[in-house]
Amino acid sequence: MKIDINEIFSSHTGVLDFDVTSDGIREITETGMIPDYVRIPDDGIRVTGQFRSAGEFIYLSASVTVRYKTDCDRCLREIDGETSFDLRRSVAVSGGAGRGQTVPDDGVDEEDVIAATDGVVDLDPVLAEEIALMLPTHFLCSEDCPGLCPVCGRLRGDPECKCAEKKEIDPRLAILKKLLDNSEEV
Ligand SMILES: [Zn+2]
Ligand SMILES: [Zn+2]
Repeated sequence: MKIDINEIFSSHTGVLDFDVTSDGIREITETGMIPDYVRIPDDGIRVTGQFRSAGEFIYLSASVTVRYKTDCDRCLREIDGETSFDLRRSVAVSGGAGRGQTVPDDGVDEEDVIAATDGVVDLDPVLAEEIALMLPTHFLCSEDCPGLCPVCGRLRGDPECKCAEKKEIDPRLAILKKLLDNSEEV
């Protein structure tokens, strides 16, 4: 995802608003930072925000929304996920218009700086990094997902699964159950 910020150098407001949706995420998945059980569609990443030129510095502030599909940790059903987070960076400009604009000397970590080459900012590396950090580590289709029966592989509680019934009754108790069943019938 590349954004051309050249117009900010001629703009009198010094602000460039943008709203970009990905049209491919190969460059993000190729970093190897996104776990492969998280499947992001080509248009799954949306970044909205602005670049702001303040004195000799340029700042990016944006919000990122990522839609993806993954599998429930317990029942393995496919589920839809969405993660949102804010992204703030300083921009170091090299080449083209605005060359020589630098980032503040102090108060900014080098990790918080992204590069604009010939006035174009490539957000993919920083997006890959942030998405990897912000993704949940556990995925459930619902908080009370019962998971799968280890014997037949059906969802626990599925009427078709009779495994629990069969397994839970100790043969020594079966005789007692029979007695109880009989007494209920009386
Ligand atoms: Zn589940
Ligand atoms: Zn079962």
